[in-house]
Amino acid sequence: MSRITDIQSLTLGQLREYISSLGEKPFRAVQIYKWLHQKRVEGFDKMSDIPFSLRERLSKDFCFEHIRPARILKSKSDGTVKILYELTDGNHIETVLMKYDHGDSLCVSTQAGCKMGCRFCASTIAGFKRNLEPCEILGQLYETERATGRKVSSIVLMGIGEPLDNFDNVVKFLTILSSPEGANMSLRHVSLSTCGLVDRIYDLAELDLGLTLSISLHSPYDDKRSELMPVNRRYNIGELMKACRDYFDKTGRRISFEYALIEGENDSEADARALCSLLKGMPAHINIIPVNKIKERNYRSDRSSAQSFCKLLCSMGANATVRRTLGADIDAACGQLRREYEENSINGGNESK
Ligand code: SAH
Repeated sequence: MSRITDIQSLTLGQLREYISSLGEKPFRAVQIYKWLHQKRVEGFDKMSDIPFSLRERLSKDFCFEHIRPARILKSKSDGTVKILYELTDGNHIETVLMKYDHGDSLCVSTQAGCKMGCRFCASTIAGFKRNLEPCEILGQLYETERATGRKVSSIVLMGIGEPLDNFDNVVKFLTILSSPEGANMSLRHVSLSTCGLVDRIYDLAELDLGLTLSISLHSPYDDKRSELMPVNRRYNIGELMKACRDYFDKTGRRISFEYALIEGENDSEADARALCSLLKGMPAHINIIPVNKIKERNYRSDRSSAQSFCKLLCSMGANATVRRTLGADIDAACGQLRREYEENSINGGNESK
């Protein structure tokens, strides 16, 4: 099961250690790292200023592989591009590129599937396969920029999977992403979304990386939240809020709360009131999302009810907005394409319906 490490998954610190263990000159580590994350070459043979013998050694000690787009869907209306990537072991994940006024934002997956079991989420219904390696999270950035010719200016960890359930690999990804000798993106331009793994929120606060933390809340009541999100049975809302306050105290970063509005489930005036009092005194922003339909559930909501709910929250003093709906014509909600693709291949069919 243990596969040889992909060289693109090493942080600069790890690469330095490895280079020094070989007795090579220390500057080789930065040179190699730049080939990987700045020039983004596709093979050891392209590292032209690295001595042949060292390249040979690298190719014995590490693999150097790339995820490949299996399907690319482009929205005709708003510039959204959704890519189904095939990993080298045949698993699939999804990545979505979205166009905003402030630049292009990339939504990346952190796991192949998800264990968290949220009732409304397509990613979890298709089941959990495995964690992504740092290079597979980075690969979504590199390959999407390559495939589309567009430049990504911000990243959200909101695709398939629970980022804090793959903590170490996600932190390595963030380290390489933000390293000036690596992909060199400031973590001010990165948001991480979690269903609320409280212990890991404390760990993340300790690291004080400067990213934005998004909490998928979806209800201010424990009983309803536990019904929608089984993780709430492990960490209830009180514990989650305590961790959020700690995160704010340690990092000074305002927290964003995601609220997928579902008709008849979490959209009443009492929900709005309870949500406001829950977040009172905490520097927070609420993001209302009309729930995306998935075929297994009868959950519904529309833009106008999201707007009314948002207005209600604002009238109660909350800071709330409705998330723009992007890529509606290509089903841009994460998890749906992967599931469709895998179902079709299991049934022996091809991907065209
Ligand atoms: N596991 C992480 C990140 C992935 S999900 C998390 O739970 O935050 C990214 C966001 O999409 C979460 O806020 C999630 O609750 C939301 N989401 C999932 N399925 C959805 C759906 N059908 N409609 C609206 N939002 C959905």
